Amino acid sequence: MMTGNQYRESLRQLRPEVYYLGQKIDSIVDHPAFAPHVNAAALTYDMALAPEFEELLAATSHLTGDRINRFTHIHHSHDDLVKKIKMLRAIGQQTGSCFQRCVGHDGLNAVYSVTYDIDHKMGTDYHTRLVNLLKEVQSRDLMVSGAMTDPKGDRRLPPSQQKDPDLYVHVVERKSDGIIVSGAKAHITGAVNSHGHLVMPTSAMREGDADYAICFYVPVDAPGVIHVFGRQTNDMRKCDCTIDQGNVEYGIVGGEALIVFDKVFVPWEHVFMCGEYEFAYDLVERFATAHRQNYGGCKTGLTDALIGACYALAQVQGTDRASHIRDKLVEMVHLAETLYCCSIACSCQGIALPAGSYMADPLLANITKLNVTRHIYEIARLAQDIAGGILATMPAEMDWKNPKIGSYVDKYMKAVADVPTETRIRLIRLIEAMTCGTALAESMHGAGSPQAQRIMIERRANLGHKKRLAEKLAKIGEQPLFVS
Ligand code: SF4
Ligand code: FE
Repeated sequence: MMTGNQYRESLRQLRPEVYYLGQKIDSIVDHPAFAPHVNAAALTYDMALAPEFEELLAATSHLTGDRINRFTHIHHSHDDLVKKIKMLRAIGQQTGSCFQRCVGHDGLNAVYSVTYDIDHKMGTDYHTRLVNLLKEVQSRDLMVSGAMTDPKGDRRLPPSQQKDPDLYVHVVERKSDGIIVSGAKAHITGAVNSHGHLVMPTSAMREGDADYAICFYVPVDAPGVIHVFGRQTNDMRKCDCTIDQGNVEYGIVGGEALIVFDKVFVPWEHVFMCGEYEFAYDLVERFATAHRQNYGGCKTGLTDALIGACYALAQVQGTDRASHIRDKLVEMVHLAETLYCCSIACSCQGIALPAGSYMADPLLANITKLNVTRHIYEIARLAQDIAGGILATMPAEMDWKNPKIGSYVDKYMKAVADVPTETRIRLIRLIEAMTCGTALAESMHGAGSPQAQRIMIERRANLGHKKRLAEKLAKIGEQPLFVS
């Protein structure tokens, strides 16, 4: 297993093509816009080696028996699924931000089980290829991004009917040694600071979309792979100040990028689906289930830190004994722990797959994520309520440090007399970073938008069974002893 610094050094050895604000970036590890995201991901390495966290963050490879980072592990029990959630909460508490490595972890688990199913039915050898990649990922302790969401163009049309064929990633050419792919994946978390990308189809596919039913792995610096790093709320603060960033070490969200594939060559050994359109939905559902399972883990960890910031700020501002403040803190805890309950429940109710691996209960995982789209907004509302209007009007760190007016800012921004003004500023900026703009939108759309969860919930809801339960009670139609 690598340390965080070895991970940073391994990224320095790569040459990914990355653009940000119209500029090509030479080294993302040493650039202020990227460093917080690298730091958050680096913690997934350091914590796996720390005695107090290794129980959660390290695992034993079912392939080699070696000690590996859990982010490269395939779940083989309910305990593995529960440990993932506890791991995400523990890391989220330390980073207060997205640490990105879960997406590729969930992708590897989904592709592991689906390639097994494809091979079983079609006689292909995708699973063996995936196992070989997995051994490399485990032994080199690689960070893999999970790239699922295509730009999608006109949402009314399937992939093959789009005016521009590149709006979904697709095969352009099949060769004896591999395939050429074009297209793009959008909103990809941790993309620029991963070692490679696991690319998966974004939705169910029909026969006419077979060229779009592809799954493959490419190194982050493969020729033709281009990254355009997204903007975030207040991202210029990463370049011109420190305290005002709020979370200077780990940033506010994962650092998402648009990944363009411009006629990229992928050798067959890294292709895990190529035309088997009837398995695209299973892959989407298993990946979505794995990632939605997570959200009551990582977001609860972040919320633990946010609740702590609100409690500390209330003390700094002299409001901590007010009953309505205490009540709001309790409400935040209630909402956060409800999310955690959901993640633990869908893990405990997980199911074994033919490949021998485990996935969370799909219905409960989707419920988990749908609750996150609501509870995190309510938690943010309560945090902003506790913080007060100063959250939106606090003078800049530069004014507080200005030799002429800094003393005024310090004097009038002070609350409780014996607590330095700087403490209040730091807490307010942390709460601002965790509850505004990009951070909130990630809770809505990360791991799929709410409607995507509703569609999967409806598919799994078994309304027919519920109807039969009601009919029996109301003495309508046949009256079996039990409704099954
Ligand atoms: Fe992991 Fe949470 Fe970030 Fe998704 S949002 S990558 S689950 S930390
Ligand atoms: Fe996310």
